[in-house]
Amino acid sequence: MRQSMPKYPAVTLKAGREKSIRRRHPWIFSGAIAGVEGRPEPGATVRVVTPSGDFLAWAAYSPSSQIRLRTWSFDEKPDIDAGFIQRRIARSVDKRRELGLLGAGGACRLVFGESDGLPGLVVDRYDEHLVCQFLSAGADYWRDAVIAALNELLSPQSIGERSEASVRQKEGLESRRGLLRGAIPPAPVEFLAGGIRQLIDLGEGQKTGSYLDQSINRLRVAAYASGAKVLDAYSYSGGFSIAALLKGAVNATLIDSSADALKMAEQQARLNSVANRCSFTNANVPEELRKLRDSRQQFDLIVLDPPKFVSSAQQVKSGCRGYKDINMLGLQLLRPGGVLASFSCSGHVSSELFQKIVAGAAIDVKRDVQIIERLSQPADHPVALPFPEAEYLKGLVLRAVN
Ligand code: SAH
Repeated sequence: MRQSMPKYPAVTLKAGREKSIRRRHPWIFSGAIAGVEGRPEPGATVRVVTPSGDFLAWAAYSPSSQIRLRTWSFDEKPDIDAGFIQRRIARSVDKRRELGLLGAGGACRLVFGESDGLPGLVVDRYDEHLVCQFLSAGADYWRDAVIAALNELLSPQSIGERSEASVRQKEGLESRRGLLRGAIPPAPVEFLAGGIRQLIDLGEGQKTGSYLDQSINRLRVAAYASGAKVLDAYSYSGGFSIAALLKGAVNATLIDSSADALKMAEQQARLNSVANRCSFTNANVPEELRKLRDSRQQFDLIVLDPPKFVSSAQQVKSGCRGYKDINMLGLQLLRPGGVLASFSCSGHVSSELFQKIVAGAAIDVKRDVQIIERLSQPADHPVALPFPEAEYLKGLVLRAVN
């Protein structure tokens, strides 16, 4: 009897460790693996099986990562090939089209990793330009297929890469950015998101991006802006301020520790004809908020949109302290009846925990506060039900009663 080499090496899970994969969770950690057949190269497709050899999933192998396997499919039928990648990307793009997010001049997240069945792949669209992040060995393995599929489906003017360094490191991949297809536009590209005109500089070496996940939230928060004096803490390129000023805010104070971010904010404010009502402060937020509080300043609408304070389970405690501090300061700066929009983008901090932290902050500064709206991530950042890890952005819109 002739025995043919199996096309895909098998990776056998330990007995009892197939539970999460049966519930269609896309990650398998190194500790769940009993054995690996051969030496699959990084990103190669493997056949995940039970101790008795039954098929569980097709997955990409990441030899350097704690997340050793990321599943492509729980169905045995499809070949994991360029056609499979193309179909997944097409499905993801179609969903954005159905949401009305592919209109000319707009921007959206076209592919959101695991939630779109493409672990480790993120693709953003800024009008005619696409920016990819290949964040896992598996996504990196299929980069040519991804680029070809995007090119065929959308015929963009350019496809660039800005893979986030810290995540790639865990996957044993070096940081990468640069042009993959087409030509880099010489000037920043203008796009419209959440009703505001924005700019992105796609030039090589540019670190700038845009927080597309807040586009709709900026509009929601701006609904409270009429006649308001606004404080925009962690402003980045000023999205919340600009949205608020366009909806009738009187003025906005933007605070960010990055001078480059504030330069972009100024440019965008000018583009939206609101720059004359903005003031820009290049400072550390907690310090600056303390100063404002000590000089008895008050604001009608405050936005706190800090960077991720918690990146691992070990950081939850210190991160919570950080969130509590800034929320105490924010509430102290809020005039009676004013509105605070407070965000956390730490996946490790659940919305329940976040609410508790903010509630603690209100008690400590003796303010009566109500939640008037809950904000989350938009439809182009979906959360696949078996993968709650995809849910990271949460916001509370709060009103100080007294
Ligand atoms: N609100 C923004 C996004 C904020 S991203 C928007 O709508 O687009 C977080 C920002 O916090 C970044 O611009 C970063 O430069 C800034 N930042 C990080 N730590 C900071 C600190 N300690 N003080 C001030 N700004 C900080």
